[in-house]
Amino acid sequence: MTCLSRLTAEMPHVLRDVEDRYLEEPRGHWRGQALAVAAPTTTQEVAQILRIANDTQTPIIPYSGGTGLVGGQVMETGNPPILLTMERMTAVRAMDAQAGTMVVEAGAILENVHGVAEAEGWIFPLALASQGSARIGGLLATNAGGVNVIRYGNARDLVLGIEAVLADGTVINGLSALRKNNMGYDLRHLLIGSEGTLGVITAATLRLFPTPSATGAGLMTVPSPQAALDLLRLAQSRIGEGVSAFELINKTGFDFLAEVGPDLRIPFDEPPEWSCLIDLGLSHGTPADALESLFEEAFEAGIVTDGVVAQSEAQRKEMWAVRENIPEANRRIGSVSSHDIAVPVARLPAFIAEAPKRLAEINDFRINCFGHLGDGNLHYNVFRPKGEARDAFAGYRSAVKTCVHELVHEFGGSVSAEHGIGRMKVADLERFGDPGKLSAMRLIKRALDPQNILNPGAVLRADP
Ligand SMILES: Cc1cc2nc3c(=O)[nH]c(=O)nc-3n(C[C@H](O)[C@H](O)[C@H](O)COP(=O)(O)OP(=O)(O)OC[C@H]3O[C@@H](n4cnc5c(N)ncnc54)[C@H](O)[C@@H]3O)c2cc1C
Repeated sequence: MTCLSRLTAEMPHVLRDVEDRYLEEPRGHWRGQALAVAAPTTTQEVAQILRIANDTQTPIIPYSGGTGLVGGQVMETGNPPILLTMERMTAVRAMDAQAGTMVVEAGAILENVHGVAEAEGWIFPLALASQGSARIGGLLATNAGGVNVIRYGNARDLVLGIEAVLADGTVINGLSALRKNNMGYDLRHLLIGSEGTLGVITAATLRLFPTPSATGAGLMTVPSPQAALDLLRLAQSRIGEGVSAFELINKTGFDFLAEVGPDLRIPFDEPPEWSCLIDLGLSHGTPADALESLFEEAFEAGIVTDGVVAQSEAQRKEMWAVRENIPEANRRIGSVSSHDIAVPVARLPAFIAEAPKRLAEINDFRINCFGHLGDGNLHYNVFRPKGEARDAFAGYRSAVKTCVHELVHEFGGSVSAEHGIGRMKVADLERFGDPGKLSAMRLIKRALDPQNILNPGAVLRADP
């Protein structure tokens, strides 16, 4: 019997129509395919689906919010898979308001997790522009980053335990909330960042953090990326852990918002070439005062040239709306090639100076370089010149990508800082990844998923 006929016979209640939304991805580069969509409601059902898929050697694509940016959740070619969506596993299984932990199922939407934590006087600090759609399973499977990594770490740092199902249906019950637990291999960290290739994450124990007593934000213009780094250093030395986010914004981001929207208020007469959005969460003191003192000191030192400090939560949200809508403006313009890269923080200014020169050898481009400066993580996105037709530049994608990734490698960086490998960067991982690590990864994959049913072709080539 085929996988689909067994699912139809044994668990018809989990099957859903293959709607378009499951096959699309945010940037519109790829379109997936699926034999069927399975939407289980329990871990036991996930295990049963995997056993059937394993018996029949049918690919499974674990699927959460569908916001992944590297094609991990869409399989264009090969044996049509069963798409295993977490959308019906959204429960908060437990909340420990004393210890600051929460057990949630993989289908919980990040924004809802924020709300549950906040209602209990805690925060769950993972924050990114896709938080209204991205789900815990996908966020952990990609080890998502976002804007608060500088203070709280990546998704990996926010998880105490994991429940997951392996390819043969074995359930790993690892929902421990212990902070100290050295009993054997930590499979939590193997599964986090494995992008659906080693197991299906069904639930996680999340670490919560105390709610800062006051939050605030400031947008400061800086004369150069080096000045932005100097400002970061000054902010951290004066405000310490209170710096929750430090984002670099380039003029092109403001220009794109003005060109294609969304229509947002920018608090400067002229869009600055470089600016930094600084977010604070303090346990004592007033963020606006701390930001104003920072501005004064930085201005004296010639590190900042202008700035605005939010005087209310509404103004803080307006500043964040500008930053968070830059990816949407990018999407509307349509990049030739987008890159999620990291280079050692101290080398960022040199990288930002060198990359446009290398790209100019290929053609004339507009560059929107912005992102999580404190983590050395830039979204380095390359666009056709204004007025040029999109199609005319599509052919440059591969050359642009190669150019940027080679330069990142020269600078000792990573060609995937926070989005993962998916299907988009498999060749990059082979080219730039450490050979020893790659060979260990292949061994792990073969050991845990010998039939290669879990997300085949993502992270590692399906036919190595
Ligand atoms: C506008 C926008 C802004 C973004 N900003 C950021 C950002 O700042 N930082 C950042 O890190 N990312 C960012 N992303 C990328 C994206 O939101 C993340 O990759 C997210 O973590 C994926 O979550 P998801 O629920 O949408 O997963 P999906 O897209 O459904 O899946 C992503 C991957 O995880 C696997 N997977 C899904 N669920 C499971 C599961 N339960 N078990 C095992 N594997 C699973 C899939 O097979 C796939 O390989 C952004 C995306 C958008 C659209």
